[in-house]
Amino acid sequence: MSFTIATSLDDALAALADGARPIAGGTDLVVGARQGKDPLPQNLVAIDRLGELARVEVTDSEIRIGAGVTHAQLMVDASVVDHCTAIADAAALVGSPATRNVGTLGGNVMNGSPAMDTGAPLVVLGATAELRTASATRTVALDELWTGPGQTSAQPGELCTALVMPARPATSGSAYVRLEYRRTMEIAVVGAAASVTLASDGAIESLRVALTAVAPTILEVTGLDDLSGSTVDDGLLASVAERASGQATPITDLRASDRYRSKMIGVMARRAVEAAAMRARGEAVAVPVNRATGVGAAE
Ligand SMILES: Cc1cc2nc3c(=O)[nH]c(=O)nc-3n(C[C@H](O)[C@H](O)[C@H](O)COP(=O)(O)OP(=O)(O)OC[C@H]3O[C@@H](n4cnc5c(N)ncnc54)[C@H](O)[C@@H]3O)c2cc1C
Repeated sequence: MSFTIATSLDDALAALADGARPIAGGTDLVVGARQGKDPLPQNLVAIDRLGELARVEVTDSEIRIGAGVTHAQLMVDASVVDHCTAIADAAALVGSPATRNVGTLGGNVMNGSPAMDTGAPLVVLGATAELRTASATRTVALDELWTGPGQTSAQPGELCTALVMPARPATSGSAYVRLEYRRTMEIAVVGAAASVTLASDGAIESLRVALTAVAPTILEVTGLDDLSGSTVDDGLLASVAERASGQATPITDLRASDRYRSKMIGVMARRAVEAAAMRARGEAVAVPVNRATGVGAAE
């Protein structure tokens, strides 16, 4: 058994090439091992000290969030809140302050849970994952990365270095909401993210919606193109809700039945579109939406 603390990206990639598994915050890997899900890998390389992975960079064409950026950073980083508000919404809901302080975006994505909170926001924002080995870098679409519950198409030796999204017009907004039974230390019963771009007349120019915890992987709602040109009103929100509920294929477990999840995912999708449209219009909706509007909102 070995445990290496990487002090440079090259160190980390060399350890991975020798068969080590990366550990960032350890909030999935170590907690899972303690709960008996999977034993800890024999060889680990800690990547939490790598400054290269902990940056958020914005250019005219893209926003690049390092895989090592923690949820605590994501929820307050001005660039993330401005350009990818749904990710900030999601990060602010993860676990507790202790979880958010060490848990990372890369760990959330690479753990591959269908209940991961940052997944649906990344999908609606058009993110791709950057994967590196000691000798190559490749870019992978998220629907190709997540192959099943807890599974990814990443090869042994590949490190996720960043999630990269295209820049968005000023008339865009995004939001993530989740159904939760309590306000901390919860995982999504179901959740939904939406991104909306509005035309100059206030009608929808583009709309994407993705769903959490209702399929083996994060599920993007398809067939929304015909809603372009519509205004965001009750009819449109009802139509989004119906499509989300119709496309979801949830399971029943101790937290909710499949029927309840199917029904509630429509409600979440509707709320996500509503909040994303408000942000696209420039209206202030605090991060996270779950605490800003509706039940449980801050006074
Ligand atoms: C109490 C508690 C509450 C939680 N609540 C939530 C919640 O509300 N929402 C939610 O989504 N999650 C939640 N989680 C799960 C967890 O905190 C998140 O998934 C977190 O983002 C994982 O990040 P990490 O850095 O700790 O990952 P780690 O545990 O370090 O790694 C997770 C997996 O990803 C791999 N990995 C990590 N980084 C990389 C990388 N850069 N490249 C390639 N592979 C990598 C590791 O090898 C491992 O397989 C919770 C966990 C706990 C313990």
